[in-house]
Amino acid sequence: MRKRVLVVDEYLGHLMGAIPFLNGMGLEVLIAYDGVEAVDVAGRELPDLILLETSLKKLSGFQVCEFIKDSPATSRIPVIFVTATSKRTADKVLGFRVGATDYITLPYEIDEFEVRIERVLMTKAREDKLFDRASFDALTGVMGRAYLLERLNQERDRAIAEKLPMSCLMLDLDMFKVINDNHGHAVGDEALKHVVEIIRTCTRKHDLVGRLGGEEFFVVLPNCPHTTGVAIAKRIRKTIATTPLISNGVTIPLTVSVGVSFFTSKCLPEYLLMMSDVAMYEAKKRGRNRVVYWDGKSHHDAHA
Ligand code: GH3
Ligand code: MG
Ligand code: MG
Repeated sequence: MRKRVLVVDEYLGHLMGAIPFLNGMGLEVLIAYDGVEAVDVAGRELPDLILLETSLKKLSGFQVCEFIKDSPATSRIPVIFVTATSKRTADKVLGFRVGATDYITLPYEIDEFEVRIERVLMTKAREDKLFDRASFDALTGVMGRAYLLERLNQERDRAIAEKLPMSCLMLDLDMFKVINDNHGHAVGDEALKHVVEIIRTCTRKHDLVGRLGGEEFFVVLPNCPHTTGVAIAKRIRKTIATTPLISNGVTIPLTVSVGVSFFTSKCLPEYLLMMSDVAMYEAKKRGRNRVVYWDGKSHHDAHA
């Protein structure tokens, strides 16, 4: 896939003149003409690299870089300042302090410009690969435990700041050991992938899905009130129970037990995890293949 670079400069700025050269390097070029647009495009498009002039309208390049580095969604995008105006050592120091990967001043030699961009893109590709390996589960593609907890923390902070509701689901496959024992570990693996596909179809794009370990999954539903959280849990449970895995012509029924908990003002992520876990164990105790939610006082069966 072609690498994407976001070029940020004023309409007739020098960086706009570099676009044909960037295209010639095989890069897809996105453009922003001021600081606010730059932050917006970076957040929406998540380019592989940002080339940034320092003097811009609305926000300075330094402020843009700071925003990008402070936001979890964009913090891993490398920024190279390419500036015709801020050439003092103090400017360069500020550029690196706000998180730039490189700092180029005009005039530059085109060969050097090219090789600096190539080097930053290569490092980014390597870092992305390592990040994916460390953050996502190799079997199912959902988030791994550590990354999920990090994201849960961020979503909790956002829920507090924006006064939004949030629900969490803990799901555990029922009697999964029996599936491994009867059909083999490879079929067990297929079953885990099958369940993840169903969870994905029942949730929204920005919901977080993670594998905590073994046959246990956790779903974070940002901006999702109590009743909707329970409704989504019920839909997942029902879809899994009515969509058996078909492997080598053999139909293998699957069920899950789900515990639901809700974010209440300022509760810690560990608490959300624990309350979902306790509710899930309650669902197991009450007979499996069911949803149990915790309303802050007691557990309730969410009847299908
Ligand atoms: P319960 O309804 O009480 O949850 O019963 P269970 O059998 O699902 O729970 P238990 O904890 O006894 O067994 C979980 C099984 O999940 C045991 C383990 O071999 C299996 N397992 C864990 N990770 C994987 C995996 O990556 N692939 C496969 N195929 N099996 C796994
Ligand atoms: Mg289980
Ligand atoms: Mg388990």
